[in-house]
Amino acid sequence: MTPRITDDWLTRPETRAVTRALTDGGNRALFVGGCVRNALMGHPVSDVDVATDARPERVVELAAAAGLKAVPTGIDHGTITVVSGHLPYEVTTFRRDVETFGRHATVVFGDSLEDDAARRDFTMNALYADPEGTVIDPLSGLPDVIARRVRFVGDPAARIAEDYLRILRFFRFHAHYGNAQDGLDAEGLSACAEAAEGIDGLSRERIGAEMRKLLSARDPAPSVAAMASAGVLSRVLPGADAKALAPLVHLESLYELGPDWRCRLAVLGGSEPADRLRLSRQDAKLVETIGAAARDGAGAAELAYRHGKEAATLALLARSALTGTAPPEGWHAEVARGARAEFPVRAADLMPELNGPALGKRLSEIEARWIASGFTLDRAALLR
Ligand code: ATP
Ligand code: MG
Repeated sequence: MTPRITDDWLTRPETRAVTRALTDGGNRALFVGGCVRNALMGHPVSDVDVATDARPERVVELAAAAGLKAVPTGIDHGTITVVSGHLPYEVTTFRRDVETFGRHATVVFGDSLEDDAARRDFTMNALYADPEGTVIDPLSGLPDVIARRVRFVGDPAARIAEDYLRILRFFRFHAHYGNAQDGLDAEGLSACAEAAEGIDGLSRERIGAEMRKLLSARDPAPSVAAMASAGVLSRVLPGADAKALAPLVHLESLYELGPDWRCRLAVLGGSEPADRLRLSRQDAKLVETIGAAARDGAGAAELAYRHGKEAATLALLARSALTGTAPPEGWHAEVARGARAEFPVRAADLMPELNGPALGKRLSEIEARWIASGFTLDRAALLR
């Protein structure tokens, strides 16, 4: 029996207004990709993608006629964002692949749902639903959704050669939606291993975006371990080691701390993650701080004093994962104490006797003494 999706996102008036704008114009409107997959799997749906046989100019026309705002966000790819009651809907014209040179595919607009499905990456991402929620499954993706199996559409090697990002997407989708017991699809995995070199030609922005999503999964450890054995991880992050990731995930759940991709990245190590994954300055700093603090010997309170509560907590978890030891007794209280501590000595206390580098050096010595005292020495004692 064909399943039917009855989720709120599908029945809400904003959504209906978008599909009706298209169907009233005599065109098709089909939900596709993540929203259908997640609805079928019982995962939350964050964004709704719509596929249509209407060409982009026609989508703009039909949206305007229905009083909806249309923004040409990806006109080259045929994507118009239709805003309905402040909610964005990505409406994309059916596409099909045409072989041009070598194995690279160029995309042109198409009229058929089957062609549109065939150019998508995984069978679980190639499911559609009509405006009433009836699922359309042109490539038999449903059994894969039910088995939670990430499987390439068509020949894995050929599909990867068209876009090497699909290697990373394979591991990412397995981490989020795969069946942990069954592991990764063997045929897909060996094709990824075979083609790993192709990663080198991808932009760092695309690699970074995929890796952030992968590392945000509840448990990315099995996927990342598979990436390592397939020779993919070392292409993305040379020198990275996946060993401590599973222990970290375990500690996160033990201490009920939500997943933080930056902590996971810090535990992987490897050279220049910030540059290779094009991290924002803020994320780069946190990854660097966690990585360094996890690998030095500073106590919980000192870490919290120096880097704040969040970074200290993550660094202590990372350290436990890397060393295979439990976090220190009473570490939560120690972190809280360190985060509250205020150094009682000011530069002005040492001036004008000292200035310049000598002043900085003296101040650090006093601070180290104060930290070593467990933040107990007061200003007078420190200045004596
Ligand atoms: P989520 O947004 O939850 O990460 P999603 O399935 O919506 O999941 P997107 O990256 O938003 O993933 O892509 C939307 C759809 O477009 C996918 O489901 C897939 O069908 C198709 N797609 C995206 N990127 C590729 C790609 N590199 N190769 C082939 N198909 C792709
Ligand atoms: Mg999406």
